[in-house]
Amino acid sequence: MLSRDDCLALDAADPLREFRDEFVLPEGVVYLVGNSLGALPRRTAERVRRAVEDEWGGQLVGGWNHAGWYDQPLTTGDRLAPLIGAGPGQVVVGNTTSIAVYQAVAAALRLRPGRRVIVSDVRNFPTDHYMVQGLAALLGGYEIRDFAAGRFDDAAVVLLSEVDYRTGARHDVPSVTSRVQEAGALMVWDVCHSVGAMEVDVSAADFAVGCTYKYLNGGPGAPAFLYVNPRHHATAENALSGWYGHAAPFAFEADYRPAEGIRRFAVSTPHVLSFAALEAALDVWERVPMDQVRAKSMALTSLFIDLVGDALEPVSPADAAARGSQVSFRHPGGYQVMRALIDRGVHGDFRAPDILRFGFAPLYISYADVCDAAATLLEVLDKELWRDERYARRLAVT
Ligand SMILES: *Cc1c(COP(=O)(O)O)cnc(C)c1O
Repeated sequence: MLSRDDCLALDAADPLREFRDEFVLPEGVVYLVGNSLGALPRRTAERVRRAVEDEWGGQLVGGWNHAGWYDQPLTTGDRLAPLIGAGPGQVVVGNTTSIAVYQAVAAALRLRPGRRVIVSDVRNFPTDHYMVQGLAALLGGYEIRDFAAGRFDDAAVVLLSEVDYRTGARHDVPSVTSRVQEAGALMVWDVCHSVGAMEVDVSAADFAVGCTYKYLNGGPGAPAFLYVNPRHHATAENALSGWYGHAAPFAFEADYRPAEGIRRFAVSTPHVLSFAALEAALDVWERVPMDQVRAKSMALTSLFIDLVGDALEPVSPADAAARGSQVSFRHPGGYQVMRALIDRGVHGDFRAPDILRFGFAPLYISYADVCDAAATLLEVLDKELWRDERYARRLAVT
């Protein structure tokens, strides 16, 4: 069994250790929820202050031209693109992941008009599946088939998450993408739980979506992104035909006419203040070696599984290569166990009905954090501290 000193030695040798200082982390907290809401980068407050006081306060409406607000969906998309294996002019930023899912699936259906099956994963983060259900109900005449059925030969589109939000199981993106495309369907990847935790490459996919407030640390409500493969830029249509995707928004024409390139997938006015926070987070990512992020992520999650040992059974894959940057366990008193942990400074989250989930953001989680979290978890279980009745009352957000 590793001692705390061993963990400190691992930290001393960690090539990413200096990034921890770039984040604001409250004293006494081990924050293992960076897969739900990433921590605050130190530089963000100043960047947001500038957006508020200098740009909005100082330039007023001139900010649209002179502070770059108008082009944010595309300029921020170009900065984000390398994190998902995409190139310039292939990613648009804005709205939310749910909306990007809708745009991607709707566009895919129009590109495969002869096919009437949408393949979706019933275990996916529910909003993705809900958006598919709403779209299918609106259009009528579509069958939704679960990904587990494994049949794509009559499917228009397959929507799947690279990393499962609950178990952390990771799909092999290149092999699934080619299987789907060989069957004549279009592939949409959701990379919410992989972007910022590993090297992501969706360049072979038809579309990809993801959020920026999890491992990317863009802040609560940070805008999402949509990747559209360049082979579809001239033909794919944006079902949410707002004025930002128009060829000439300021001509105020009566009829919708799509812009060229990725711009046609913009919808409407960007959330300028949220973009400022995301920009600050991307300043950090520009300096991060992603291969080292993945190596550390695999080491952190493996260490946690080892330290917890037989006390709990992981539902996450045992092979680090088949896992995202999280470890989940099943426990019948999962909700109470998590509340007891949070009371002791170890923050993970609970996913109904019985999953304890711990996310490891390699930029700011240390090996010592992993040691401390495992020790606290073992104590809560050994001494049955979670049985305290104050942990049974449910809070609104888990
Ligand atoms: C976090 C997450 C979302 C979030 O969707 P919002 O539209 O930002 O609320 C969507 N899909 C997946 C797979 C996620 O993990």
